[in-house]
Amino acid sequence: MQSGRSIMTENDISTRLAAVRGRIAAAAEACGRPSSDVQLVAVSKFHPAESIAHALEAGQRIFGENRVQEAESKFPTLRTRWPDLRLHIIGGLQTNKALAACRIADVIESLDRPPLSDAIARAGDRLGRLPDLFVQINTGDEPQKYGVPRAEAAAFIDATKRRFGDRVRGLMCIPPEDQDPRAHFAWLARTAREAELPAISMGMSADFEAAIAEGATLVRVGTAIFGARPAIGA
Ligand SMILES: *Cc1c(COP(=O)(O)O)cnc(C)c1O
Repeated sequence: MQSGRSIMTENDISTRLAAVRGRIAAAAEACGRPSSDVQLVAVSKFHPAESIAHALEAGQRIFGENRVQEAESKFPTLRTRWPDLRLHIIGGLQTNKALAACRIADVIESLDRPPLSDAIARAGDRLGRLPDLFVQINTGDEPQKYGVPRAEAAAFIDATKRRFGDRVRGLMCIPPEDQDPRAHFAWLARTAREAELPAISMGMSADFEAAIAEGATLVRVGTAIFGARPAIGA
């Protein structure tokens, strides 16, 4: 349902993408990092395939979706036209969706508990391949949120690396909405360095510049590219 909201034109999306790219480059430059250090994941959840196609036309190749089923409804068709696109699953993942997630995703950013590791390992056996994996940390230890609690992060990262080896690329977090995200970003970056993981996924439309200053190598930006999401009941 798209009530009260018009779909953005190709021109709108390419203008907004260029603006976000410019802000990423400026934020990287401001802290002495090459802008090629920071990948932009365009978060297209709740937006129609048509909008994603506009972003692809504008050169964007990496996309993030929260729900496997929604990704399955949009991305197979887009991939036939843009075979080099990359899809990241960034939402909390149920174990019974692990096989489907491994089938469709190039990256799963939300690995956060042993039963999900088990399900992903089984999927890997069945498919003969695995997506890249990020461990999601609940840096605010919020009870309602996905992610490994801080205190368990080091042990879970270690176990995940032993199990999946180089498939484990990095860490991801979503800081609490009511706090300054910087301390969370700094903690995640330090934890990734200590675990010798190269990729750090943090920062969204409201705070991606701060995330880049703290070392993000991927920022996940939705609203600033595609506009407000329609309110769809969970
Ligand atoms: C929706 C979402 C984003 C993008 O949020 P915006 O504020 O629209 O940029 C990033 N990461 C995750 C995990 C999300 O669910």
